[in-house]
Amino acid sequence: LNRRLAEFGTTIFAEMSALALSTGAINLGQGFPDTDGPEEVREAAVRALRDGLGNQYPPGPGVPELRTAVAAHQRRRYGLSYDPDTEVLVTAGATEAIAASLLALLEPGDEVIALEPYYDSYAACIAMAGGRRVPVTLRPHEDSFRLDLDELRDAVTDRTRLLLINTPHNPTGTVLTREELAAIAELAVERDLLVVTDEVYEHLVFDEAEHVPLATFPGMRERTVTIGSAGKTFSFTGWKVGWVTAAPELVTAVRSAKQYLTYVASGPFQYAVAEALALPESYFTAFRDDMLVKRNLLAAGLEEAGFRVFRPSGTYFVTTDIRPLGETDGFAFCRALPERAGVVAIPNAVFYDHREQGAPFVRFAFCKRTEVLEEAAARLKTPT
Ligand code: PMP
Ligand code: GLN
Repeated sequence: LNRRLAEFGTTIFAEMSALALSTGAINLGQGFPDTDGPEEVREAAVRALRDGLGNQYPPGPGVPELRTAVAAHQRRRYGLSYDPDTEVLVTAGATEAIAASLLALLEPGDEVIALEPYYDSYAACIAMAGGRRVPVTLRPHEDSFRLDLDELRDAVTDRTRLLLINTPHNPTGTVLTREELAAIAELAVERDLLVVTDEVYEHLVFDEAEHVPLATFPGMRERTVTIGSAGKTFSFTGWKVGWVTAAPELVTAVRSAKQYLTYVASGPFQYAVAEALALPESYFTAFRDDMLVKRNLLAAGLEEAGFRVFRPSGTYFVTTDIRPLGETDGFAFCRALPERAGVVAIPNAVFYDHREQGAPFVRFAFCKRTEVLEEAAARLKTPT
């Protein structure tokens, strides 16, 4: 393994899912739903396979049906107009969208500011692109993790090329407010920065929170690459269908990298996801409402078990502080938890450069059936 990647090793998700399998523990680690997405969308995929749609290499930018559906979704939901032919790119999941964006837009030595804790592929992809990551840490305030805008401003240097934003935010569940996003946008315009914004949890926002795409702010459309994922929005994480929307020059750049990573992917699934994006609003509302019930259930269970809970305003993850349990090391805690309580969770420290800052935090996924969450909560309350 070369020096760029040596520090990354095996992803925590693979390690913890393997631990769940070998111990039979309930897997609240890796974020994937334990029920599949809508039946009619699965049927659409079967139809595509049978009808020979996408069984051979689909077009490089993605099949026209899906690009049109992505553009329609952005317009309907956010009033953002993108040309399906020049401003939409289909990728092999959001993961490839992140990788291709960073590989396409960074010069060696460019600095990338990322919100810490950050989704694990960000650090590895910045490294593969030869960039330097500059973390700005979200800090606990009452029941959520917040961004300090002064810290963000201070992190920008003459070498900063790009802001890598994620809202709703994995793993903290923070949803950046309209005011915070406006300030980020102003900074990007003032310092002439590119922005890559990972909005894969756009449909999972709870309570008073609202998801506002960064691309909607003044001066942002032309400098922002927005990333979405069918895995997250339709509960088909195995299909690996994601997309990018951005101005033509940015999409062209990202496509240049993408064509040498996977060239194309997921032919038949692209047709099915095009149909999924056209589902009535009731699908998206029910998806969110169902996840809200699960959030409340797991958050209450964790609180009863003695964790300090940071109530997520978005995503399907809840971050906890284990110090009230007399624990301080999330790694040790998560490695012991399958034996102790039959539950798998993720130590947030893996999402930090400043590992000590993340040490007492542990993430649980709640995209699971309610009976599974109830059983997990019961186990956590009475560990052996
Ligand atoms: N970004 C974030 C913040 C995520 O949580 C995930 C999924 N775990 C991804 C990107 C990757 O999405 P996909 O499965 O579509 O590649
Ligand atoms: N995004 C999911 C999570 O945060 C898992 C993705 C993965 O396994 N790479 O848990």
